Amino acid sequence: MGEFELIRQYFAAAACARAGGDVVLGIGDDCALLAVPPGEQLAISTDSLVAGVHFPDPCDPYLLGQRALAVSTSDLAGMGAAPIGFTLALTIPSANPAWLGEFARGLDAMAAGCGMRLIGGDTTRGPLSMTLTVFGRVPVGQALLRSGAQPGDLLCVGGPLGDAAGALPIVLGERAQGTAEAAALLRRYWSPQPQLALGQALRGKASAALDISDGLLADCNHIAAASAVSLVIEQARVPLSDSLVRFAGAEQALQSGLGGGDDYLLAFTLPADALPSLQSEGWPVHVIGHVEVGEGVRLVDAEGRSVGIGQRGYTHFTR
Ligand code: ADP
Ligand code: MG
Repeated sequence: MGEFELIRQYFAAAACARAGGDVVLGIGDDCALLAVPPGEQLAISTDSLVAGVHFPDPCDPYLLGQRALAVSTSDLAGMGAAPIGFTLALTIPSANPAWLGEFARGLDAMAAGCGMRLIGGDTTRGPLSMTLTVFGRVPVGQALLRSGAQPGDLLCVGGPLGDAAGALPIVLGERAQGTAEAAALLRRYWSPQPQLALGQALRGKASAALDISDGLLADCNHIAAASAVSLVIEQARVPLSDSLVRFAGAEQALQSGLGGGDDYLLAFTLPADALPSLQSEGWPVHVIGHVEVGEGVRLVDAEGRSVGIGQRGYTHFTR
């Protein structure tokens, strides 16, 4: 199978590759064409996933397709952007039809769930890796930045943290699957659901936001630095799922919630008066702390005493 036959059969033919919406022209020409409505800006983000670094190799190609698009699209959620589409630069060791079919099917399923369209890409031979670039749109001036947190704001997250990190020993084959808890955690690792609707609901309300990819503490540090404030996290208020606590135990569950990566949920700061309407509309808003004058992230116990931060988020190139 040649490069063009492969692109046609597995990607151009996928349901998510149909033009429509803001996609005027999709796969097949030198460029895709996007129509951005007047008064809106393009939001663009790119993510690379490398076999053995960002996902185990070998792994289920359907789940990989889902996960690759979810982790990339989550950046649009973090900005409060509405989804448009994505490009896929795919490097594969060989054109294995079974692998490509399942990968494209997983990608297509996540694209349907997120309202994303595949608009182009590149296909090359080499060690398995992929780079996805996602495109979204947001009204001018309404993107959620990391830099707007104000002393006095509440610090919130969009759901229970640490599930994906809790699944890692199963993903790596160090712990057995088979229990209901393990299955729930694995779903959160392989099929995170980008909080696109929540991100858009936070426009004009949240003072700062991002999606948590490297762990709560590490990502809160990004907001603290960009906003020149201190974020205080009340340890006891960090939401943890029952599945995670049962699977990992309370102490390890908390470590995963604070330091584990791959959550792909939103963290955001909010003036206190914006909270009631968001909660009454049913948005998943969990208050875990507040913003103070100062710098960095501080973890406190129920009495407000500082707790040592043992584990930080994952960063490449640091030991
Ligand atoms: P060019 O040589 O002009 O860059 P290519 O031959 O690489 O174009 O690709 C042909 C068309 O197929 C382009 O529209 C490109 O965006 C698309 N394409 C290539 N690889 C992929 C892929 N993995 N997924 C989706 N579209 C792809
Ligand atoms: Mg090309």
